[in-house]
Amino acid sequence: MNKNPNFNQLPDRYLFKEIVLRSQEYSRQHPSHRLLHLGIGDVSFPLSKPIIEAMHKAVDEMGGAETFRGYGPEEGYSWLRQAIIANDFNPRGIDLELDEVFVSDGAGSDLGNLNELFLPNNRVAICDPSYPAYVDSSIMAGREVLQLPCTPQNKFIPELPRERADIIFLCFPNNPTGAVLTRQQLQQWVDYAIKQKSIIIFDAAYECFIEDSDVPHSIYELKGAKQVAIEVHSFSKSAGFTGLRCGYTIVPKETGLQAMWLRRQSTKYNGTSYITQRAAMATFSPEGRKALNENICYYRETARILSDGLKTLDFEVYGGKNSPYLWCRTPKGMKSWEFFDLLLAECQIVCTPGVGFGEGGEGFVRFSAFSKREDCKEAIKRIQQKKIEK
Ligand SMILES: *Cc1c(COP(=O)(O)O)cnc(C)c1O
Repeated sequence: MNKNPNFNQLPDRYLFKEIVLRSQEYSRQHPSHRLLHLGIGDVSFPLSKPIIEAMHKAVDEMGGAETFRGYGPEEGYSWLRQAIIANDFNPRGIDLELDEVFVSDGAGSDLGNLNELFLPNNRVAICDPSYPAYVDSSIMAGREVLQLPCTPQNKFIPELPRERADIIFLCFPNNPTGAVLTRQQLQQWVDYAIKQKSIIIFDAAYECFIEDSDVPHSIYELKGAKQVAIEVHSFSKSAGFTGLRCGYTIVPKETGLQAMWLRRQSTKYNGTSYITQRAAMATFSPEGRKALNENICYYRETARILSDGLKTLDFEVYGGKNSPYLWCRTPKGMKSWEFFDLLLAECQIVCTPGVGFGEGGEGFVRFSAFSKREDCKEAIKRIQQKKIEK
């Protein structure tokens, strides 16, 4: 047996473990201090009532001789795929065929598994900083990674690579920077991919947070995108499915990859559970829509409060609009972890050090609108009182 040596090339990912360790150590030394958790990347609302009711009903069906469901289609039940097309694409002028939609157990799995469609010798372009899954899964696959720097100078919008990139991961609205692309900006990437015969893997996990009308909800709103883009969606952030697990991926036939992905999924994935797909279906009902919308509006307002508060205190802060994340430059040129320690020690605030998302995140921290509203307000007060300013 020969082990995959690519695993030795992976960067250490101690970010979330280290955050927990340092916060726990602080609490151990100061048991009476209340920590404010502002870095959370998971949703805070429980699943809404229409979703829970749909699941209860599905559970009962599973117990009835007439209504029991065994193995379903690997790519998902057609009623769910139809609803996805009708709700998420048709209203934006996008037409998709039913077999171009693949229901999954979340965006994370698909983002990793899509690597199997391509040879190791493809060069991958990935934003720096970025969500760790793109870099790590590319390295596991033995690929060369080309970092696309995202800085305040380019407003966290990557420039087209000078070297050829075969596979391009794009995530907008972005985690961690909160940056978005306009239609015009995303069209440049689509045009690049068409010209270079590259493939774009577009992560639309935060699509539900978009408010501005010139920000596309789907890459397929752009001309020619069906030839060159796979789009990955998740119910995690939009409907609170982080623990339930459901997402979907669009693989248009024009990419020449749809049959391969179908084969891959049919071989290695036996489908998302019937109960979970019923839960996903409930997000499209009028009551489901309404419940989701209320939560998203709440997160948006929390983002606004955090953003306004930090700006009033003169912090250089990005994102927080069209996105639940705020990307904040550390004061006085501090390193990400230095500022993390300072906020923890002086204000009992826990944030996410930007360097955990790649070298390009050094000198920044991420705040999240999934945090408790009261904690956000209290955090702004504490920062002001302690005079931690730029
Ligand atoms: C949270 C998140 C996802 C969603 O992943 P799931 O596996 O569906 O929970 C995808 N991409 C990014 C950038 C995320 O932050």
